[in-house]
Parts: sequence; structure tokens; C-alpha cells
Amino acid sequence: MKKIIQVTQSSMPKFDEYINEIKDLWESKWLTNMGVKHKVLKSQLLDYLKVPNITLFTNGHLALECAIAALNLKGEVITTPFTFASTTHAIVRNGLKPVFCDINPDDYTIDVDKIESLITEKTTAIVPVHVYGNICNVKEIEKIAKKYNIKVVYDAAHAFGITVDGISAANFGDASTFSFHATKVFNTIEGGAVTYKDENLVKVLYDIKNFGITGPESVEYVGGNAKMNEFQAAMGICNLRHVDKEIEKRKKVVERYVKRLSNIKGIKLPKPQEGVKSNYAYFPVVFDGYKLNRDMIFEELKKKNIFARKYFYPLTSNFQCYKGRIYIKKTPIAEYIADRVICLPLYVDLDLEDVDRICDIILQH
Ligand SMILES: *Cc1c(COP(=O)(O)O)cnc(C)c1O
Repeated sequence: MKKIIQVTQSSMPKFDEYINEIKDLWESKWLTNMGVKHKVLKSQLLDYLKVPNITLFTNGHLALECAIAALNLKGEVITTPFTFASTTHAIVRNGLKPVFCDINPDDYTIDVDKIESLITEKTTAIVPVHVYGNICNVKEIEKIAKKYNIKVVYDAAHAFGITVDGISAANFGDASTFSFHATKVFNTIEGGAVTYKDENLVKVLYDIKNFGITGPESVEYVGGNAKMNEFQAAMGICNLRHVDKEIEKRKKVVERYVKRLSNIKGIKLPKPQEGVKSNYAYFPVVFDGYKLNRDMIFEELKKKNIFARKYFYPLTSNFQCYKGRIYIKKTPIAEYIADRVICLPLYVDLDLEDVDRICDIILQH
């Protein structure tokens, strides 16, 4: 029986390192509600992500949902369906209507040439996704947002640690939201964050994640509970110490895939973006005109106990929960890529021999 290889594997600190980090929680007995670990992680992340403000959350989804809520949006929001369920759900759960824009075929982010034709007088925001860590055309998006006076919230769940011409990807738009889920490049077990420039959002986001409680006897918002707890924050403090080294290791894995799979007819590999320092979070491969199609590759790998993922298929606009509920605009390029893309296994400790084995299966050697 061949060993099982999943699409990803969580990064963890050494057992003793974590135990050491959580020891004082047994003295303080302060387990959540913005305690010491939360404070430390917050300040370290401000530094790491080079942003003026950050609010930590219990997960990335609630970070996005609360960021949208904090901006007090109404009506329609332009977004892409080529993403994880969370992006579209966060819009709909805020009572807003998602208007789907197609993606561009080069990096699978929102096609900026198609945004303006979707803007109506009901449009209040754009929620683009830095999908796979590919950074959206932030300059063009900013121009459009200024012209129509609408907000931009980036789903930056895949973009931890990425810089564009030296600028941290956490600095774009009115807000950017991150996921620190176990499967992401940097994890706090579950966790997330919103980064932003506007000082006024500090208090709003804090209150929204804490039931809207603004004082011992006052509740000003219909808030929820989305606080990051101390054990999550402690995991973050440990993982942050190693994340740069880990990104370097991920890079080695990616380089091996690229070496083995480039220049093969019908296999399209991710293209590095100019000026972008990647975090090597995902390795999406598009099979288009190759002797095996995506689903065949998926099955061949599965037979050998290798579990790739069809990220992102289906498109969120094709989810059952949205059938008949919202008007779905066709997004042919997103549709085309979703039918052909697969994310190959990629994590810090993935052996290069295993990468070779995966490539051998794909290349049918
Ligand atoms: C992971 C992810 C989220 C949600 O983050 P969680 O921490 O799992 O709640 C949102 N958007 C995208 C694109 C993601 O990949």
C-alpha cells in the first residue's frame, strides 16, 4: 500500500515549542477575549504584514463577513465565482447581491476589463480574490473604485506574506481579509484577520466580532462572536517564527513541479507575476488539450493514494444553494478553467521524490 498524500498538510511547530507558548495560560486562566497571546500575535502580524491596522478573527470566513459588514454596504457587490465557497457566502450572508464577473485566463483573478459593464447604481463594492496568491490588478481596480465611489474588499485568504514591488499584499483596497486556517501557508489552527488603513474601522471591527458590545451596559451593533482565542494566537506566534523558512521549502517543491511539467503540450502551469514575491501556497495546473483530461488525472492520482483537489470546481455560481435565488451571469472563462484545473499536492514537508512520483503519473512514465 502506497503512502497517502493529501493535497496539503498543516504546518505545526515542534510539540515543545507550542507547549512552552501555552504554559502561562494555566496561570492567567485567560483563554480568550483578546488576551496576552492575542495582543502579541497582533503586533507581530502588524510588523510582518507591514500594515497600519489589523483585527484578528476566529476564522477567515468571519473576517471577510465582518469586513463587509463593517463597511456598511448595500445592494450589489461585484465578485468572481472562481473561488472558495466563503467569498460568495460572505456577500450573500450580509444580505447583498453578488454580481459575478469573469476571470482573466492568465492568472484567474477578476478580469478588470469586464468590471465596469457590471456596475449599476446599486453597486457599492468589489470583492476580488487574490486566487492561489495571484495578485489582482490592484491599480486598475483602485481606479474603477475611485471613479464610481465604491469600496474594495480583497479576499486575500491565499495571499499571506506576498509582496508586490515590495509592498505587502495586505495593503490593498479598503480592507483585505486573510485566512489562518490549518491548510493555509500560515495557520493559527483556525483563524483569520482583516487588514486596513482607515483608523475608524478599528473600533467597528472590534465591536462586530464581540457581539456589538461597546461598554459594560451598552450594545451598539448587532454583532456576532468571531474572536480569536488564546490557543489559536499561541499557535500563530509559534508558526510565524518559521513561516519564512517554510515558504522557502514550498518554493523548492514548486520548482521541482515546474522542472518536471513545463513545456509539455496541453499542460498549463502557473505563471509567475511580475514584481510579485510569491508564497507558493498552491500549484494549480490546467489540463487543456493534454492526452488525459483533468478528471482522468484526478482519478489516476487517486488510484495511487494521491489526493489532488479540483480547486475551484464547481464555480460558486453553480452551487445548489444559489439556484433560482440570484441572477447568475455567465462567466465562460471561469467555467472553462474550473473544468480543467487541478491543484497538485503542495506542502512544506512534501518530499521531492513524491513530487517526482506525482509527475511520473501525470506524464505516464
Ligand atoms: C480558506 C479561504 C477562506 C475562508 O477562510 P477560513 O479560515 O477557512 O474560514 C476564504 N476565502 C478563500 C479564497 C479561502 O481559500
